[in-house]
Amino acid sequence: MHVEQIWTGNAYRNFNYLIVCEANGEAMAIDPLDHEKCLGVAKTNGWQITQVLNTHEHFDHIGGNAAVIKATGAKLLAHANAQNEIEGMDRGLNAGDVIKIGSTVELEALDTPGHTKSHVCLLSHTDTPALFCGDTLFNAGAGNCHYGGHPAELYDTFVNQLAALPDATLIYPGHDYIDNNLRFTLDREPDNARAKLLLNDIADQDPNAPLVSSLALEKEINTFFRLHNPSVIAALRESFPDLPDTIDAKTVFLKLRELRNKW
Ligand SMILES: [Zn+2]
Ligand SMILES: [Zn+2]
Repeated sequence: MHVEQIWTGNAYRNFNYLIVCEANGEAMAIDPLDHEKCLGVAKTNGWQITQVLNTHEHFDHIGGNAAVIKATGAKLLAHANAQNEIEGMDRGLNAGDVIKIGSTVELEALDTPGHTKSHVCLLSHTDTPALFCGDTLFNAGAGNCHYGGHPAELYDTFVNQLAALPDATLIYPGHDYIDNNLRFTLDREPDNARAKLLLNDIADQDPNAPLVSSLALEKEINTFFRLHNPSVIAALRESFPDLPDTIDAKTVFLKLRELRNKW
């Protein structure tokens, strides 16, 4: 499996992806908003895009579908419940469905609601797993729930699905928000030395060759995975003085999501 991470350079800071079977050059495009760039990269490398996959229905993820499909005849895949939001779907995905690309690549669909109700993440069946997580999980952050999502569902997705993946899992998010997200982490947990170092490391990074984090690293720098951390909880009590003496992980997550909305 070859992963081509394509930086759009647009105002929304989207990443698009081509997942390629190295044996026969077949490729799947994930959320190919910048269709010209995606088609150009495929052409340059001799790859054939046979499938387009949308992680969810937002315009900055589906906006390139028509152009890519017109140019390649690719089939369109998305969450089974996104039929009404995404035009021209050929295949609806449910949890556990396997998507094959060429002869060597298998991706498993995870049903990951929260950012929207019909959001899928893709987990590769490779020695080191890779997770294509759309707007559910970002480097050092979590998706918002403003446009069709629900914070309690996002919490369930984080705790019951994402946190349970192998620590070595590589994280490929739908946007480049790492700088602002690390600043939020440090606002919530000023003594997080790893986040401080990383903020410095990525300060002048080229988004064309960004850091690819792992789940292990996210658990160190992503506040939304640090729900039991004493510093996170202490800072939360300062922001919400009325919190009860014992506070569960779900409440911590929901309060963090609330604070991040205004960050
Ligand atoms: Zn979105
Ligand atoms: Zn997005």
